Amino acid sequence: MSGPIDTPTDETPIAQDIVEVREGRTATIGTMGIVRALPTKGRRTIGAWCLVDVMLPGDELDPDPLEIGPHPHIGLSTVTWLLEGEALHSDSLGTEQLIRPGQLNLMTSGRGVAHAELGTGGGVHGIQMWVAQPEATRHGNPAFEHHAELPTADLGIGEATVFLGSLAGSTSRARTDTALVGADLRLGAGAVELAADPTFEYGIVPIDGRVMLNGAVVEPGYLGMITSPTELLRLEVEHGTRALLIGGEPLDSKLYMWWNFVARTRDEVDEAWRDWQDGDTDRYPEFRSVLDRIDAPAPPWVRAD
Ligand code: MN
Repeated sequence: MSGPIDTPTDETPIAQDIVEVREGRTATIGTMGIVRALPTKGRRTIGAWCLVDVMLPGDELDPDPLEIGPHPHIGLSTVTWLLEGEALHSDSLGTEQLIRPGQLNLMTSGRGVAHAELGTGGGVHGIQMWVAQPEATRHGNPAFEHHAELPTADLGIGEATVFLGSLAGSTSRARTDTALVGADLRLGAGAVELAADPTFEYGIVPIDGRVMLNGAVVEPGYLGMITSPTELLRLEVEHGTRALLIGGEPLDSKLYMWWNFVARTRDEVDEAWRDWQDGDTDRYPEFRSVLDRIDAPAPPWVRAD
């Protein structure tokens, strides 16, 4: 005879096992240290988000300069979000745009764009993200948007700045090619429950303090994610922290990513790489930068030839 065990009731807490937690890996871009939260072991994307690099704050006396010379992209939007400092974005569309904390730079590459990033004030600390473009727009023209003003949402225990998509009743006017959300959360101690879109995958990247996501502890340097349908995101914080919330509809197809290129096949990447190395100015028009152009490394399939 066995008694009833594990019978779900209305009191059953949100299952912790739907949250997966992965440690980010540290890397260096130019001279700047970063923690790459996405892609991570066993997970390439969250919605259309395909890269999340959290810049490590540099030494205050000798900050690591943000100096990333002209380099190409295809098939993605770069989402630049600063927490400290100031940077100048320049690109092959002729854009020169200063960005400060609380502002969004959104560059969409379509079939090809090149850009450079230069820190212009103080140690730069921020988050560089990529969103993969869907089939419908990824072969299109490049574009750039700067949003100096972004909506905020009151979360009770804090506030969110919504830079892409909608959260807690606030909607960003920035371009999105697929349904997604990106928000910077500034949370005080306590708990908040946010309505989730069950068609979305979600990820949280704590910046300076731990966050509990639907019952799972996520420390800074880690990514917490929910990739099965959920209607609720419960965030719990013991001590104030900042955290990045990303989410979105799963992508329409599997990505082929190499270096700065987001494609679907190796041939597409190969062509984008050759065009950059050949200085094809139809695809990547030249633009003014004090920084040196970054040479693409040879892809592994070329090195093997
Ligand atoms: Mn870039």
